[in-house]
Order: sequence, then structure tokens, then C-alpha cells
Amino acid sequence: MAEIIDGKAFAQNLRKRITGQTAQLKNETNIQPGLATILVGEDPASHVYVRNKNKQTKAVGMASFHHELPAETTQQALLTLVDELNRDDAVNGILVQLPLPAHIDPMTVINAIDPDKDVDGFHIHNVGKLAIGEPGLVSCTPLGCLMLLKDQLGELSGKNAVIVGRSNIVGKPMAALLLQQHCTVTIAHSRTRDLAGVCRRADILVAAVGRPEMIKGDWVKPGAVVIDVGINRVEIDGKAKLVGDVDYAAAAEHAEAITPVPGGVGPMTIACLLYNTYQATCMQHDMAERMMDL
Ligand code: NDP
Repeated sequence: MAEIIDGKAFAQNLRKRITGQTAQLKNETNIQPGLATILVGEDPASHVYVRNKNKQTKAVGMASFHHELPAETTQQALLTLVDELNRDDAVNGILVQLPLPAHIDPMTVINAIDPDKDVDGFHIHNVGKLAIGEPGLVSCTPLGCLMLLKDQLGELSGKNAVIVGRSNIVGKPMAALLLQQHCTVTIAHSRTRDLAGVCRRADILVAAVGRPEMIKGDWVKPGAVVIDVGINRVEIDGKAKLVGDVDYAAAAEHAEAITPVPGGVGPMTIACLLYNTYQATCMQHDMAERMMDL
């Protein structure tokens, strides 16, 4: 039976380390990292996510600045707010919660954020830096997956990594991170032929598809490490339940280690957002020596 990779405990420990580093930074330099969040519109799930982010930001000792705008906000008004936050020295990280209302182009807004404050790692400059292997801010969910993998496996060099899913926020940055770690990387997607066969070659299998339990147990190579990014709400016996993209029970029969859903990758995302905010603060103040290790 596979070892369970406890993302909840890992994230808690990471937040504890960030709390310590933040307190030390404040004591020794009087600098308090600050994260600004912008929420446009009434999407209930987004409200829950942002509330959680703000709560956890304060809990690690950082300043939290929250801006809530009505759904009819114009793109120009949003860009004006982003510009103000770019110039505000108390703000080290800026997060625009997605999705935005349909009349606003998300990439125009994301690319208006100062890349040094782009703690979601979505700005085209940070995406480019990741692609060519330069240090920059990296998308939180794949960064969290990498932390879990390094903790589980130590050295990743030479491993066969298969990532199912090629989105800009998970699949592609995950592939770039694992390539940087010297894995042999395959990205699979909806047009991939013989997906089961491709998955069976993976020492590291990352599922980021958004389809409940699509990855079957016998697609997992014996001894592989499985990271399930998927969060799917399904109804089982009339009860709502969260399941991943991997058939957990069956995959656990084959894998060496596997992340559960919930409690695996999910809790890592906000912890990595706080990690990025701390790192961004250090970078903005030329304090590379204070930055945290991966
Ligand atoms: P997207 O919908 O943007 O991308 C899904 C990817 O899966 C696409 O590349 C698509 O291929 C591929 N895909 C779809 N169907 C198949 C199939 N039958 N076989 C092979 N590949 C397929 O999703 P995201 O990357 O945004 O999210 C993926 C999952 O991760 C979701 O469940 C989401 O909720 C979850 N998630 C969790 C986070 C967290 O833990 N905090 C954060 C972000 C996402 P193609 O490109 O060809 O269409």
C-alpha cells in the first residue's frame, strides 16, 4: 500500500517556517511583507478562496490588503488599481483572483502587474523566466507539487515524469519545473494516444486534468510517486464529495506514494502563495541572503 503524502501537514510546516522568517525580517529590518488581493464580482467560490488567502496571510504575520470591486468594474478601473498597488511600497505581492467578469481580459490585467510583485507567477515575464530557467516567481500549485516531490524523493534527476494536462497554470509550469530538476518530461493531454501506456512509464505521475478519477490504478507503474492536482466535486450516494483526477484506492495499490484529495496538493497552493510573497519581498529589497530554500 502506498505511503500517503500529507500535503496538509507539509503546508502547515511551511507556513510555520514562513511565520518565523517573516518575524525575523520584521524585527531586523522593520519590513513587513504585504500581499494585496483584488476580487471583482460575486463568484461565491472566489470569495471563499480570497477570504482564506487573506486569513492565512495575516496568520503568518504579513500585511493583507483586500480590494473588493463590483462585477461591473471597467477594465480601465481595475488597471488603475493595479497600477496604484504596483507603486505602493507596502505591497510586495499582488493577486488578482480569477476568473474575472467576461468583459475584462485576464491576461491584460495579469501583465499589468509589476512582474516582481506577481506572486501567482502568471505574468508573461515570469512564465518566460521559468521557460529559460531563470529565477523568478513560479505558479503556486506546481511549486507546491515540486516541494512535495522533493520531500518525498530527494533527488529527481533522471526520473521519467509524466504530466497529464497542459494548462498554463498547472501542467506547463509543472513540466518546466521538473525539466529544471533534470527529469525526462512528457506532457500528455486530450490528444495523447495511448494515455494509459504513457502513464505506465512514469516514475513521477502528475495528474492535472479536471476529470474525476480518470487515471486508473493499473496506469500507475509499481513504485511510482503520484501527485493528484485534480479537485472534482462529485455526488456519491446523494452526498457531495471531493475526488481527484486519480482513482485513489486503486492507484494506492501500485504507487510508492500518493497525494490524497483533499489534503494533498490543495493546501500547498496558499502556503506557496505566502512563500512567494516572502521571496518577492526579499527580492525587492535586494536581500537574497534572507530568501528561503525550496
Ligand atoms: P484545465 O481545464 O485548464 O486543463 C485540463 C487539461 O487536461 C488540459 O490540458 C486538457 O487537454 C487535459 N485533458 C482533458 N481531458 C483529458 C483527457 N481525457 N485525457 C488527457 N488529458 C485531458 O485545468 P487546470 O490545469 O486548471 O486544472 C486541472 C485540475 O486541477 C482541476 O481539477 C482543477 O480544479 C485542479 N486545480 C487544483 C488546484 C489546487 O490544488 N489548488 C489549482 C489549480 C487547479 P487539452 O489541453 O488537450 O484540452
